[in-house]
Amino acid sequence: MFQGIWIDKQDGRYTADLRGINPEQLPEGDVTVRVAYSTLNYKDALAITGASPVVRQFPMVPGIDFAGVVETSSHPACKPGDSVVLNGWGVGEKHWGGLAERARVNGDWLVPLQAPFSLKQAMGIGTAGYTAMLCVMALERRGVTPASGPVVVTGAAGGVGSVAVAVLAKLGYEVSAVTGRAEQADYLKGLGAQHIVERASLSAPGKPLAREQWAGAIDVAGGHVLANVCAAMRYRGTVAACGLASGMDFPATVAPFILRGVTLVGVDSVMAPRAERLEAWRRLASDLDLSKLDVVTQEVALADVPALAPEMLAGKVRGRVIVAVRA
Ligand code: NDP
Repeated sequence: MFQGIWIDKQDGRYTADLRGINPEQLPEGDVTVRVAYSTLNYKDALAITGASPVVRQFPMVPGIDFAGVVETSSHPACKPGDSVVLNGWGVGEKHWGGLAERARVNGDWLVPLQAPFSLKQAMGIGTAGYTAMLCVMALERRGVTPASGPVVVTGAAGGVGSVAVAVLAKLGYEVSAVTGRAEQADYLKGLGAQHIVERASLSAPGKPLAREQWAGAIDVAGGHVLANVCAAMRYRGTVAACGLASGMDFPATVAPFILRGVTLVGVDSVMAPRAERLEAWRRLASDLDLSKLDVVTQEVALADVPALAPEMLAGKVRGRVIVAVRA
């Protein structure tokens, strides 16, 4: 038996708890991984609480990412002893995920652990950090550079936001960090943010166009926050949208797009092509200061995860949560 978080839904009752799982129940796949670390991402919190229909079949082991060591493999690119990382591909949603001591997956979904990261550091970054890097790359592809002007990051004290602030600051951008938690101002300045913006200033319905402020934006919130960020972009600025912490809706007008040539780029980490994943991990290795990563992360045990999930949805968790899975 191995330990894992087990989500079930029976007679309409949704449960998520830590229990022993028989290895014979592991799903199909050509690689079995001894999981060392997983993480708690926003989507995991949605899955564990059942707040949103993230889990597509039951029972499910949640965990949209993990880092570990290959135990057995019939995949040509993986051999026992390899250190590997997985992000997305529906793992933890429709295929058993990383919040358990063992995972069996399709070897095509795995990427090699990027040097110089340890397994733990890779999960300190996790899907949130890798998505932050995909967002930075999306801005760069549209020509946003530090010389273009200031950039803004919403949900800055959360997982995606913290890594985005740290990376952008290291790259030389002037970063405005939007947060609903004034008490996190010092934390965000420590990551490199130059300006702190109160979330409340962006979360109510706003005008179609506002004062031009930012050349680039990374948004994890959606809703009015995203609409107001778009309205405050400089001429030909770019917004990378990846999240829905405020809501799924987008109550905006076309004004920023047709009058200021603003670009709204969608970022999805789950099905991102392999080449882009490898590029994002390489960029994290060069553009994320490891001392900042230590500040951003906290480590918890597998048993702590069910209680932490609702706190994450309530916006009370700061930075990244590493889950130590290895027994
Ligand atoms: P976290 O819970 O770590 O961070 C979310 C942050 O959003 C909070 O810390 C808070 O930051 C802010 N926030 C909370 N509630 C609101 C609100 N009502 N309005 C505006 N901001 C709010 O989550 P993650 O960073 O892991 O994920 C952020 C979002 O990105 C989620 O929606 C997640 O699903 C999405 N995501 C998408 C991915 C993709 O592939 N597209 C991949 C990874 C994540 P503060 O207190 O500083 O305001």
